[in-house]
Amino acid sequence: MYVTRVEKITTLAPAADGRFHVFAFDLVVTVEGPVDPEHGMVVNLSEMKETLRRDVVQRLAGRCLDGTNGTPELRTPEALARGIWGMLGGRLGQIPVRRVRLAGGRSVFDYRGGDTVDVTRVYEFSAAHRLHSPSLTDEENLRVFGKCNNPRGHGHNYILEVTVRGEPGETGELLEAATFDTIVATEIVDRWDHRNLNEDLAEFANLNPTAEEIARIAWRRVKDPLEGSAPGRVRLHRIRIRETDRNHVEYLGD
Ligand SMILES: [Zn+2]
Repeated sequence: MYVTRVEKITTLAPAADGRFHVFAFDLVVTVEGPVDPEHGMVVNLSEMKETLRRDVVQRLAGRCLDGTNGTPELRTPEALARGIWGMLGGRLGQIPVRRVRLAGGRSVFDYRGGDTVDVTRVYEFSAAHRLHSPSLTDEENLRVFGKCNNPRGHGHNYILEVTVRGEPGETGELLEAATFDTIVATEIVDRWDHRNLNEDLAEFANLNPTAEEIARIAWRRVKDPLEGSAPGRVRLHRIRIRETDRNHVEYLGD
């Protein structure tokens, strides 16, 4: 069973120009283990909290991670996530850590041991669509899609999450945020934002633009440019489309 604890972490990382980046993240640590038959827990949560605060949060809080004054040299969130895993020795007491996540702003960094890290960037776009399948009758379309079959369409504020996986490069980053954002803006957000997906976009001309199809098309549009930006090092791992705050779909490729 998995148990997750969230702490706040604020620290400074040295930038190339001699200044600093402020890193303010939710630190999300997940452990996995069996439920102890005596106390009914995987891990004592107050001990987990104590360990995380003593071994990680207090060691990093307000410090500059430039390798001096006993701090580790951690210049990127990718390195910080891996460094935190190392501070814990990959364990919380006897219980193995399964994931260290740093989440802040529009970025999420996940480290699960090994050489790779997952980086997720979060985007928004607003678009109209109509769910309608030409292979169904009008009555069947209405029954299957309900008000989403409304002939004049309706809109959503979509949340798009794009996750890449790989080994950080020489800069310590997996993929520079500006490169990531430019690719997703060019291929998806700038194309789809404030558009009618059915009527305005060639990629949906013969598709019913369900969240599932939107995720698949998004995958196809960003895969080559993202992976091509760091050939052999970065792979597209997941597309998540949140159509409402009550439903989302995830696509991990075929
Ligand atoms: Zn809809």
